[in-house]
Amino acid sequence: MNERIYNFNPGPAVLPEDVLKEVQSELLNFNGTGMSILEISHRAPAYDEVHAQAKADILELMGLGADYDVVFTTGGASQTFALIPLNFATESHPGSYALSGSFAQKAYEEAVKLGVGTVAASTKEENYVRVPRQDELNIAPSAAYLHICLNNTIYGTEYHYTPETGGVKLFADMSSDILSRPWDFSSYDFIYAGVQKNLGPAGVVLNVAKKELLENTPAELPTMFRYATFLKNDSLYNTPPVFAIYMVGKTVRWIKKHGGLAAMGEANAKKAALLYDAIDSSGGFYRGHAEKDSRSRMNVTFRLASESLEADFVAQAKELGLSGIKGHRSVGGMRASIYNAMPLAGVEKLAAFMADFRKKH
Ligand code: PMP
Repeated sequence: MNERIYNFNPGPAVLPEDVLKEVQSELLNFNGTGMSILEISHRAPAYDEVHAQAKADILELMGLGADYDVVFTTGGASQTFALIPLNFATESHPGSYALSGSFAQKAYEEAVKLGVGTVAASTKEENYVRVPRQDELNIAPSAAYLHICLNNTIYGTEYHYTPETGGVKLFADMSSDILSRPWDFSSYDFIYAGVQKNLGPAGVVLNVAKKELLENTPAELPTMFRYATFLKNDSLYNTPPVFAIYMVGKTVRWIKKHGGLAAMGEANAKKAALLYDAIDSSGGFYRGHAEKDSRSRMNVTFRLASESLEADFVAQAKELGLSGIKGHRSVGGMRASIYNAMPLAGVEKLAAFMADFRKKH
């Protein structure tokens, strides 16, 4: 294959081609330093600029003020599942978890290991075909936080509302839909995302949180497990994943240049509608996993009548340069991940293939 394909992988995932080209053009000599960004000191002024700019652009896009800060951590969103209860929950003020899929469940299990996890709601009995509704959330007033997973990458469901918590702090894993639409980020106290879906390569977690919350984390925690360390040292206590942060900065710039979150939201809604229309108008040939109210704009999950038909679908799609649409084993079927950087043309091609494949079978 000599050309770029349409990459529907769930993450690591497609990145904007312009960003990749820019990175390529700067690789041997970053910003007149005579070195690549991979070789530069994380204390060098040239890196400082990258770091500060990425943070400022993220806060600007999210519409957040000086009461919030951005910290970059490592260990993936999975490590954050453990860091959150370590830093913020206690036995008398446990974390409260809305279980809407595998990652929400994993986050909860880390809190349980520490003896500080409770369940606010769960849609597991329905095989996670939807996210919990507001009236199902049972949040104890003494909870340290309510934790939700805003977009459930595996099941293809997404919250289209921000939970009302009655004063309890709101935490969200936004790994698979961060910066994909205008959103009321200021209703959240702690937001985090492994960036390898919408914003960059694997290797860094973007955390955006109230400064006051990050400051007041337990001093007895190991230094690198404590959010206050990251806040106080501007995520430079030790060597951060410089290249990943640099790429996040570039992708965020790309989002700004292409109309910000309003434009991303519009384009993503249009792409998702194309695929959901292909499902809904197929007379049952394609069966969507998610209930309509909870459909994800980022991961479109659907099944066909049999596993052999699904295998044919994947193979023929691949031949057309439509790659990465085999679903996760826990749902089966297909999953088309259509993050910010997936061009409309890729989704149009997939929708046309879906119509064509249906006619032939
Ligand atoms: N949360 C969500 C919503 C995810 O989709 C993923 C990864 N697929 C994770 C958490 C885990 O992320 P990581 O691999 O960075 O630990």
